Amino acid sequence: MRGDKTTNGDHMNESTFRKSSYTVVIPLPASAGGVSYLVCNPLYGNASLMSGEELEVLSRFPTDSDVDNDAVVSQLKDEGYITTLTEEEEKELMNKRYEDQKKPQNPRTAIIVTYQCNFRCTYCWADHLFVPDTMRVVIDEKTVDAALKTMTQIPALESVEGMSFYGGEPFLPSTRSIVTYILERGSERDFSFHANTNGYYLKEFVPLFSEYAVDGLGVTLDGCQHVHDARRKRSDGGGTFFKIVEGIDDALDSGIPIGVRINVDAQNIGELLTFRDWVTEHGWVNRKNISFTCTPVLPGKDTTPPGLLTYSEMAERIVALRKESPSLFKVMHYAWEYFVEGYLSQTILQGTELQPRPFYCSAHFQTFSFDPFGDIYCCPRAVGDRTFSVGQFIPELKFNEKFEDWMNRDVLSIPRCRTCDVALMCGGGCAYEAYLQSGTLFEGYCEKYRAFLEYGAPLFVGQRM
Ligand code: SF4
Ligand code: SF4
Repeated sequence: MRGDKTTNGDHMNESTFRKSSYTVVIPLPASAGGVSYLVCNPLYGNASLMSGEELEVLSRFPTDSDVDNDAVVSQLKDEGYITTLTEEEEKELMNKRYEDQKKPQNPRTAIIVTYQCNFRCTYCWADHLFVPDTMRVVIDEKTVDAALKTMTQIPALESVEGMSFYGGEPFLPSTRSIVTYILERGSERDFSFHANTNGYYLKEFVPLFSEYAVDGLGVTLDGCQHVHDARRKRSDGGGTFFKIVEGIDDALDSGIPIGVRINVDAQNIGELLTFRDWVTEHGWVNRKNISFTCTPVLPGKDTTPPGLLTYSEMAERIVALRKESPSLFKVMHYAWEYFVEGYLSQTILQGTELQPRPFYCSAHFQTFSFDPFGDIYCCPRAVGDRTFSVGQFIPELKFNEKFEDWMNRDVLSIPRCRTCDVALMCGGGCAYEAYLQSGTLFEGYCEKYRAFLEYGAPLFVGQRM
C-alpha cells in the first residue's frame, strides 16, 4: 500500500542487514481477498499485503537467504522491513518520530455553553449531569471572555483556528444570546466554528450561523421517525425527528455542512437499511455537504444503556450487514477508528504514510474545553464531571495534577501497552473508557482497536483488492 520508504543502500553488504524491530504482522482472514497478512511498520510508514511465502522469507532472514527470493528480499528492504539500521539507531529514529507526533498539529478548543439538555435519550451517558445546580447554568459573557483569554495562555493552543460549541445541548432558546456573543468574539479572532447538537432548534439557529464561519455541524438521527423518536425524545416525551430533519434541510440550503451521526446499538442496528432508503428518498444521498457515520452507543459513568453492544459484537454485526447490503456503508460509514491521516485505516485505503501513534486521541495534547463553572477538560466525553477536570481558568489559569496524567498517558506510560505488539498503531485506546473499566487512566483500552484489526482492517483490505 505504501512502498516509497527506505533507509537502506543497495550497495550494503548483506551481513549489515537485519529485520526491523518495529514490524507488526496482522493475520488476515481468507475473506480479505486471498492475501494472508497485513505487515506494518510505523517507523518507516509502511503497510504491505503479503502472502504466507513472502512473510516466510522475512521471518527467515537473514539465516536462510536464498537467491530465489532476491526479488522479495529487495522489496522488503525497500519498504524498511529489512534495514541497515541497528536496534539502537532505530530506537533513536522512533523516539524522534514519537516526539514529533506529540506536537500540536490541529489544536481544538470548545466552549461548553450549558449542561442543560431538552432531550432525554434512552441511552444518555451524561444523565449524571441532570441535577439542578449543574443544569440551570448557562455560561455568561465574563466566563466566555476568561476562556478566550486562557486560550492564548496555553502553548498547545497557539495556532488554534477553530472553536466548537458543546454541552449538554448548546443550542436552546436560553443559550441564543450567549451563542451570538461567542460567535462575535470568536470571529474577532478569525475562528471558524463547529458544534455537536441534537438539532432540535437548528432551524431557529441557522439564520444566525449563516452570518458566521460555521464550517460544520454534527447532528444525531438514530434512524427513521419511529426508531429515532423512541430513543431521542424531548424531556416531555415528545418526538423530535421531523423538526431535526427540517433544521438539517435549512442548514444544507444555507451551505452549512452536516455530519449526521447515527448512534447504533442492538435496538436500531437492524433498522439501518430502512433508514438508508429513507435518506435516499429524502434526497440527501445526492446532496453535497452531508455525510452519515454510524457510531456505537457507549456506556456512561454510572449507566449501561439497554441494547449496548461490545465493540466486537458491533463489528460482527457490521460485517454481517455489509454482506447483506454492500452498498449500505457507501452511504453510512461505520466509525471503525478515527479517520485520521497516518492511522492504519487511511494507510490501507489511501496509501498515506503510517505514523507512529504515541497516544490514542487529541485529548492528550491539543484539545481543551472550557465550561460555565470555570473548569477545563481535555476529553469532551468527560466534561461536567470534576473527576476529569484538568484545571480551572477562573480566577486565572491553573492546571491541577490530573493535567499531567492526561498529557503523559501514552503507550510508554501504560504498563500493559509497553509490551503490546500493536501499541504504536493503537495508541493505548480511549483513556475515558479505560478509566470507566479500570478506575485509572494508566490502563490500556484494547477492545476498540482489536475489533478494528480483526474485523475492520480486513474489510478495508478487501476494498483495496
Ligand atoms: S490499549 Fe491494548 S491494544 Fe492498544 S496498545 Fe494498549 S495493550 Fe495494545
Ligand atoms: S479520551 Fe476517549 S472519549 Fe475522550 S476524547 Fe479521547 S477517545 Fe474520545
